[in-house]
Amino acid sequence: MKLKRTHFCGSIRPEHVGQTSVLKGWVQRRRDLGGVIFLDLRDKTGICQVVFDAANLSEADFQKAESIRNEFVIEVSGLVENRSEDTINWLLPTGAVDIRANKLTIYSQAKNPPFKVGESLNIKEELRMEYRYLDLRTPEMLSNLMMRQTVTKAVREQLVDLGCLEVETPLLTKSTPEGARDFLVPSRMSKGSFYALPQSPQIYKQLLMVGGIDRYFQIAKCFRDEDLRADRQLEFTQVDMEFSFVDEEDVIEILEKLFQNIMRDAVGYELKLPLKRMTYHEAMECYGFDKPDLRFGMPMVDLTEMMRVSDFSVFRKVVDQGGVVKALNVKGGQSFTRTQIEYLTQKAVDFGGSGMAWISIDEHNVIQSILTKYFTEAQMAEILRQTDAKAGDLIIFCAEPHKQASVILGSLRLEIGDMLGLRKKDDYAFVIITEFPQFEYDSEAKRYVAMHHPFTHPVDEDIELFDTAPEKMRAKAYDVVLNGIELGSGSIRIHDHKLQAKMFQMLGFTDEQIESRFGFMLKAFDYGVPPHGGFAFGLDRLVMMLVGASSIREVIAFPKMRDGSCAMMDAPSKVDQVQLEELSLFLTSAMEFEKRKETLDLSVIEYVSELAKIELSPFEKEIYAKDLNDVIAFADAIANIDVSTYEPLNYVGGGENVLREDEVKHSLSPQNVLQNAPSQYENCFFVPKTVE
Ligand code: ASP
Repeated sequence: MKLKRTHFCGSIRPEHVGQTSVLKGWVQRRRDLGGVIFLDLRDKTGICQVVFDAANLSEADFQKAESIRNEFVIEVSGLVENRSEDTINWLLPTGAVDIRANKLTIYSQAKNPPFKVGESLNIKEELRMEYRYLDLRTPEMLSNLMMRQTVTKAVREQLVDLGCLEVETPLLTKSTPEGARDFLVPSRMSKGSFYALPQSPQIYKQLLMVGGIDRYFQIAKCFRDEDLRADRQLEFTQVDMEFSFVDEEDVIEILEKLFQNIMRDAVGYELKLPLKRMTYHEAMECYGFDKPDLRFGMPMVDLTEMMRVSDFSVFRKVVDQGGVVKALNVKGGQSFTRTQIEYLTQKAVDFGGSGMAWISIDEHNVIQSILTKYFTEAQMAEILRQTDAKAGDLIIFCAEPHKQASVILGSLRLEIGDMLGLRKKDDYAFVIITEFPQFEYDSEAKRYVAMHHPFTHPVDEDIELFDTAPEKMRAKAYDVVLNGIELGSGSIRIHDHKLQAKMFQMLGFTDEQIESRFGFMLKAFDYGVPPHGGFAFGLDRLVMMLVGASSIREVIAFPKMRDGSCAMMDAPSKVDQVQLEELSLFLTSAMEFEKRKETLDLSVIEYVSELAKIELSPFEKEIYAKDLNDVIAFADAIANIDVSTYEPLNYVGGGENVLREDEVKHSLSPQNVLQNAPSQYENCFFVPKTVE
């Protein structure tokens, strides 16, 4: 480092004219006019023009200036001067001035970059990720990261003010119950055992409450081994919090203030409190989702009862079979073209519906619809009344089983919101969803699963339903939803040992599983637990929404690609054999299997199954062939391990056949062999199922 930086590139203004300025940064652009060289110098604050005039510099420095290319890192010192009127660049905040360089240091040279910095947003994402450090030089990426900081700063300020203590919890931990796949870390010291990376600090934060911390928060890394989507990463950041001696109202009040503070600091938006609230039931019935986008209204209306007695057999039949008829009034939707209505009908089918009936009301209140002939005038008037339809509106119907009807119509509602431009990016519609069901029934696993997590406290008056109607139980759980996206969720927790144990049993855990997975927690609950509750929200997702990005990868400095890889570091990657040995790990990955050239084909399986008198379906043959090939490859892989340096654990005696001389040997007849078989058929005997 030669000179001390006096200014940032983006900060130079006419008021600095006449001062000597020392700037440091990257070269964005270079124009050599012969004798005079213009450089655009960039740092995190912006760009400033630097002029290298042979008359002002030593010959050596001018020669160096000639060698400069894009992305070189340099230091220049020079006089700030006004640009002549005709050369002012009105697009740049620094465009009225430039620096006349009198000294130059080149800190580092740069190869020609694979894409021009500042234009990376239009190139292939893989390339951006491989050269993420170049991508980060774009102002958009920098401002996204700055938005993260604005949000975390607002969070810290607010929560520290509320008396929360920021506590870090371990990353090497035990599996937590969020329900996603864990990332496992093998333990070297305890061979064969694994840590799990936390899916959230849930249990730790509850134990902090047992530990008397009273109020906690953490900006925590969480890990879930799930397939990636635009708004999902293998590792992500949660703003996690927990409070002692609170009920739902207390937590929601804290959340309201927190989000108000964040929105004010981040985007200058004044959030009106209290935030809108809606029960889970209302959200599902009126908007089809538990995360309704309330930037626009258009709730669904249930017309099932009136359709039960109508003459329109299509609707009536659905109702008779236990389904529902729901409708949406698209305000002003009468202006939709036929093509738009056909598009919506196709969408209804894509969402799993059988079609979409509609009624449109023109500006003279004349109804257009194929449905007119099926309804009396009074019935039609009732439909309009219940849907609050007026001239210019379009009513669309969905008649399906209950759950589908809500989801289909809810999805159409969002489609229509987009078509009518009602889902504006700079509109912020927060809503708090309450009274979630305590359980969901998992028909595959044939058991109840916790809708939030197993530590969530049921609504007090519903506790008695535990044994009789668990599906009717409501939880003291709440979600914060913004523009149809779930920002985060939380709940009041169970703080009673017995109730917690009952909850685990209800979720199908055996006593042994409860002991091995949560025993430590129940033990802690024996030593005085305050009532407590908390919340966590996804930082990446909120920042993504605040900057209007389409993927959380845009707001994370070093994200993973869709396949979970990091092209820049080439992670995940193979590790040295020594590392594996230290961990007592042996790889049976498909890569090693592929090395085997000879694989069993189906005819071998057919032959063996015939010999064993076991009939296999074609599907089973495929599976057996694959399994057998895997087993053989595994055996090969084991055989290929160099064990010459290892002390054997056991010695096996010489392996040669020894025939006893003293016995008469003769071959056995099938009858002899089969004489003890429980049941026989043509020289074959039936194999008990377990042996099969
Ligand atoms: N740990 C929960 C989650 O990650 C949030 C909470 O209940 O505080 O969803």
